[in-house]
Amino acid sequence: MEPLYTMTITCICCEASYSTSRVRPSFKKASNRDTDFCAYYKSEVNPDYYVVRVCPSCGYSTTENGITVMTDTQRKKYYELFGSRWTARDFGGSRTKEQALESYKLALICGGIIGEKERVIAGILHHIAWLYRFEGNEEQEQRFLRHSLEAYVTVFETEGMSLNNAKLMYLIGELHRRTGDASTAVRWFSRVVNDKKIVDAAMIRASREQWQLLREQQSGFLTDEAVAIHA
Ligand SMILES: [Zn+2]
Repeated sequence: MEPLYTMTITCICCEASYSTSRVRPSFKKASNRDTDFCAYYKSEVNPDYYVVRVCPSCGYSTTENGITVMTDTQRKKYYELFGSRWTARDFGGSRTKEQALESYKLALICGGIIGEKERVIAGILHHIAWLYRFEGNEEQEQRFLRHSLEAYVTVFETEGMSLNNAKLMYLIGELHRRTGDASTAVRWFSRVVNDKKIVDAAMIRASREQWQLLREQQSGFLTDEAVAIHA
């Protein structure tokens, strides 16, 4: 069985139908995950490459979690700022990593123009950071991790303490840790661990582990420094 299958999408912007490829669920099992949920797959096709659907006719690009209806104002703005300059291109078949990255950047541009939900924007930014991580491009990875962190914080501030925000809080802590802000990371991890209203055992455990990791890194740092002073 082929890992990719085709599905037909109707563009919410220009109403054209087009096909986009998706990865079959049986090929989507992650063999490993980083502590910020970045997944690694055994199969040679990376499901993350096929998250964004790009309309070949008008260029409007989004994910399955994006808005489902577009207002006339949003459409007008989209054509004014981007769509009118789009030249027909097809992202429908299998994608290279460059095309995958481009599809995410298109979704980011489109999402910015039409005012997409912040949670979707955060996810797109986070995925771009992962694509750079796969390539070992640490500078760009860090840049996009910071952008996604800002977007996740906005999501948290807008949604407040709703039921399933333990995962979001953990992730905000973890992205602070990954972008070098240990003290803010600890604040978020300790919130997840100490808030009695949070019952998500997996996120409490993950927050404890990353908090512990920071403690170990910090004590390691102090020891190195002490060694340097006494040398
Ligand atoms: Zn379209």
